[in-house]
Amino acid sequence: MTATNVHKRFGKHEVLKGVDLRVEPGQVICILGPSGSGKTTFLRCLNFLESADQGELTVDGQTVNFNKVNQKDRLAIRRKTAMVFQNYALFANKTAKENIMLPLMSAQKMSKSESEKRALEGLEKVSLLERADFYPSQLSGGQQQRIGIARALAINPDVILFDEPTSALDPELVGQVLGLMKDIARSGVTMVVVTHEMQFAYEVSDQVIFMEGGVVVEQGTPEALFYHPKKSRTKAFLSRYM
Ligand code: ADP
Repeated sequence: MTATNVHKRFGKHEVLKGVDLRVEPGQVICILGPSGSGKTTFLRCLNFLESADQGELTVDGQTVNFNKVNQKDRLAIRRKTAMVFQNYALFANKTAKENIMLPLMSAQKMSKSESEKRALEGLEKVSLLERADFYPSQLSGGQQQRIGIARALAINPDVILFDEPTSALDPELVGQVLGLMKDIARSGVTMVVVTHEMQFAYEVSDQVIFMEGGVVVEQGTPEALFYHPKKSRTKAFLSRYM
């Protein structure tokens, strides 16, 4: 996936001022930055949950220009990406299995039986097969997020976008979700992760991006960014964590 010069404003507030991102197949990119720097908005633009005002996006060889994208191309690109949300975004009145089946049947046009088979495989991958018929309210936050991750994996996307996937979790549940994400990263899934989990970003990323004020301030390998940051804004941000 490549995004170039992404701009987005809400009214007078320019939230993204020309953001670039390139993630190669199988790579993991983590995006760090203070609250309000535009990280979530950027991810949402990549998945068309927000419409960017300007810029270009290429996913799996298909390129669109944000300010003149038609509905057909938009849907085609959306089908190649999946998103994991901070608040899990599961349907409360659907079981774990049904939550995974829904996008397979609607967006991916898969049959019910095929979707069910995939959903059960997905549940197995996140070690929740025995919870297939549970509703979200009967699951812990960590389990709900693992369902969210299984749902994203099941559509076999070109890239999975993770928006602060552990920030709503109780501290004792963070580890199980990060552990699962590490396994997924090692299995070769392409991932873009907005996170405040510095240790995770250090261990798993191929590249780390530091964003502030709607721009990429600095990008580099985890080693370079965490241990040899060049920009004073990056240093100031990291000093709060390390
Ligand atoms: P981050 O993820 O880095 O915390 P966000 O992308 O959530 O940053 O937000 C960046 C800025 O955009 C914030 O100032 C936020 O208030 C503003 N913003 C986000 N979404 C909207 C919206 N739908 N309408 C107006 N302003 C928004």
